[in-house]
Amino acid sequence: MAASSQAFSPPHPQTTPDVLVVGGGIIGMLSALALARDGLRVMVLERGSPLKESSWAGAGILSPIYPWKYPDALSHLVNRSLALYPGLVADLKEVSGVDPQMRASGLLIPVFHASEWADLAGAQPWSGRFGWPVQRLDGVAARGIEPCLAESVCGALFWPEVRQIRNPRLAKAAEAAARAAGVVVVGDAEVTGWEIARGRVNAVVTSAGRFSAGRVLLAAGAWSGQLGEHAGLALPVAPVKGQILLLKTAPGTLRRIVKHDRAYLVPRADGRILVGATMEMAGFDRTTTLEAMHFLSGALLSMTPCLAEAEVERQWTGFRPGTPDGLPFLGQAPGLDNLFVAAGHYRNGVILAPATAEAMACLITDRAPPVGLEAFAVDRKREAHAALGFPA
Ligand SMILES: Cc1cc2nc3c(=O)[nH]c(=O)nc-3n(C[C@H](O)[C@H](O)[C@H](O)COP(=O)(O)OP(=O)(O)OC[C@H]3O[C@@H](n4cnc5c(N)ncnc54)[C@H](O)[C@@H]3O)c2cc1C
Repeated sequence: MAASSQAFSPPHPQTTPDVLVVGGGIIGMLSALALARDGLRVMVLERGSPLKESSWAGAGILSPIYPWKYPDALSHLVNRSLALYPGLVADLKEVSGVDPQMRASGLLIPVFHASEWADLAGAQPWSGRFGWPVQRLDGVAARGIEPCLAESVCGALFWPEVRQIRNPRLAKAAEAAARAAGVVVVGDAEVTGWEIARGRVNAVVTSAGRFSAGRVLLAAGAWSGQLGEHAGLALPVAPVKGQILLLKTAPGTLRRIVKHDRAYLVPRADGRILVGATMEMAGFDRTTTLEAMHFLSGALLSMTPCLAEAEVERQWTGFRPGTPDGLPFLGQAPGLDNLFVAAGHYRNGVILAPATAEAMACLITDRAPPVGLEAFAVDRKREAHAALGFPA
């Protein structure tokens, strides 16, 4: 990835923005929107079309998987995001006319054997500390809340207020709102290198020319690691491939988000059900496989056998921006005055997008973010975490 010497031909009238955002996913786009609303001129550089990668592919559950296993710093950021979501969704809907369909379908974790409660031991204390109402149910009560559950379910934890969002719609609304706020989105502009001198990024080199700005935000999802490396940053962000199956059922067939072991089901209001997701270290391989379909359908049948007749509509792949400890990198790039990083959101990027955007807008405009970001520093000590980081 060498810096190109291609001459810059301005593709847009706004050629010297205040901030260049590299990557047009949900993290880059909402950050661009927040910065534009702070009065800055913002340009997003996107390799292809915006919002078509992980931010499109994800399941849109607005809760980490097993949140009690993360450091508290992540829970604080999650709660900040959840507090911002209702206002953001109302705002995006009004500006774009697109409804991201955020709704509280609740999250249910069924238990099939009494021995499984040990792994859930931290859930109720965590929920109490972070203000997430939770109920412990027996098998009968669990099936009362979700009639699709298998007869073999002997108990469950149920968080009635956990929400979901249709992330492709959120993405569409976010892009429309960003453009309406004056953000210039340059598609087909793959960043291929950086011009760096005296501890500053002077220019970003792309397949569509060379761009400069006072400040640069790296938000290129799973590709951020390799891009960071070319700027001299040790940024261990790598793709963790996830495959999802989409089922078509009658509305109301499944009511709750159901999560067990390595798979989850997310019921959309129109009856579609997402069955996710594999965790694969397979680079940027976009193949959908029979093995994944087998794994996901097996998990579905053990949780909710009544869905055996559901129609399979589609299967797709997405690349989570994974990190060794499961936490994102949020902050200034060490040794580079004007480069900021918002990357590595792994399994939690949709949940964390509003709080990330708010925090990055604060940092880039020299204000203190409302939630402490020390745990997410780019140069933090990164210890691999077996349960939260890259899969074995
Ligand atoms: C199967 C699956 C299920 C998930 N489920 C959930 C969930 O339920 N809840 C949740 O919160 N999160 C979930 N996630 C995670 C979430 O989707 C991601 O963390 C989030 O979308 C990351 O957003 P991003 O903007 O950083 O990355 P992306 O959406 O991947 O965007 C990065 C952008 O950068 C662009 N780019 C890359 N390289 C370059 C370059 N060189 N030049 C210019 N542009 C570049 C890409 O084209 C892309 O548009 C899931 C992810 C997957 C794959």
